[in-house]
Amino acid sequence: MGLLGDTMDAFKRGASGDEAGVYERAGRPVICSHCGGTSFDKGSALLNSRGLTFFDLDWANASADTYICKACGHIEWFVEL
Ligand SMILES: [Zn+2]
Repeated sequence: MGLLGDTMDAFKRGASGDEAGVYERAGRPVICSHCGGTSFDKGSALLNSRGLTFFDLDWANASADTYICKACGHIEWFVEL
């Protein structure tokens, strides 16, 4: 495969990810731990923002990616380490 093939592969992966809401973390697909769904709406949150201090973590500006399951609404959290 040449440069064009690689570019098309990257484009297709990006397009399908946006439409289907399928994501990967650490090389593994994100799967809902409640219902097993694989489609998510991606968001983010600051762990030190108001209302989230119950984490009692001393990280400055720690942020997390959130994946909301489109099937059941369960939120999977991934902290940026
Ligand atoms: Zn779910």
